[in-house]
Amino acid sequence: MSGGGLEPHLAGGRLTIDLSALAENYRFLAARSAPAEAAAVVKADAYGIGIRPAARALWTAGCRRFFVALPHEGVALREAVPDSEIFVLNGLFGTEAAAVHREARLIPVLGSQSDLSIWEAHGWDSEDPRPCVIHVDTGMNRLGLTYERARALVEENALTGALTPILVMSHLACAGTPDDPMNARQLSGFQAVRMLFPGVPASLCNSAGIFLGGDFLCDLTRPGIALYGGAAADGPNPMKPVVTAETRVAQVRYARAGETVSYAATPLMRDTIIAVASTGYADGYHRSASSAAVPLRKLGQPGASGFLHGREVPLLGRVTMDLTMFDVTDLGADAVAVGDHIELFGPNMPIDRMADAAGTISYEVLTSLGQRYHREYIEADAKSGQDRSKR
Ligand SMILES: *Cc1c(COP(=O)(O)O)cnc(C)c1O
Repeated sequence: MSGGGLEPHLAGGRLTIDLSALAENYRFLAARSAPAEAAAVVKADAYGIGIRPAARALWTAGCRRFFVALPHEGVALREAVPDSEIFVLNGLFGTEAAAVHREARLIPVLGSQSDLSIWEAHGWDSEDPRPCVIHVDTGMNRLGLTYERARALVEENALTGALTPILVMSHLACAGTPDDPMNARQLSGFQAVRMLFPGVPASLCNSAGIFLGGDFLCDLTRPGIALYGGAAADGPNPMKPVVTAETRVAQVRYARAGETVSYAATPLMRDTIIAVASTGYADGYHRSASSAAVPLRKLGQPGASGFLHGREVPLLGRVTMDLTMFDVTDLGADAVAVGDHIELFGPNMPIDRMADAAGTISYEVLTSLGQRYHREYIEADAKSGQDRSKR
């Protein structure tokens, strides 16, 4: 299915988004979460892949509960998966936000006194008054009530019955590092929180938390990045790649040793065949991935590489706004043509490797992709890759 973005023959690159891999990743994480249920985190346009197609594929794979960051994301999601339960992580900014929650029947995650007051006054009622998630902080100092505030809330609410907590949650700070003692500290803090809310389901794990397993799993998990193929923790990544990003070759050039390439004039060490590709940092191909002339390279790590015709092709010099140069010398003069596509990340170039070369994480690479790609979706019911529509 052609999924929008720019027309393929006019776009500088293409994103192929494999919804069958997304569904497979969901089922894998759901199995790893058992006996807990797995929700799906689809904030930031489902980590850049498109919230509507992602949510529909996840729903078909069995997902019934979704987390977004902001209410407008919840409204878009409500259209895509009308019968789902939708939680909004960032809390309530004011009464206007509460009204949007009411209309789309979104459930807010309440993590401050102001959130609690707004929802008590302006929440919607299901069978029970003003359903909500209570977020209690156990070490992030980002969102969430303190333990003491949560205890006071429970006492007040026993009298007023103003709120109906349907889930209590917290968020792990170091789950990607399994032996960090912070994990155990947060778990024991959260277990104390759960005692305040007897009978209310609990949620602690993001993707990395699921791999901690055991008591961390609680009743509901909240995977994000692993659904989209990113590595949640160090070591081998069991997830299927979901996004393939490719850039189109705009020119092939020949340059002599000693000539220079790109901004800041990085010298070429040998006679070089250069593929000039029509994707740059404006498309989320981070400037910090450059092979030279950016601060990260002073640390001595290499820059990013693409993948073309079965080989890695290293980036040359600085990534520019709309264009990036690759060294295709080793492929030979006749092997590369205008219009060829160089994989920036995908099945042959793991997204975490590309992100690492840019000094960042797969989350940021995915959510930076932007609007200048052609987007093609492989449907969840199509046999992996075979039925991909070509145009
Ligand atoms: C983004 C987010 C998640 C998902 O985290 P991943 O690391 O992408 O799995 C889960 N819970 C909360 C509160 C989040 O903000």
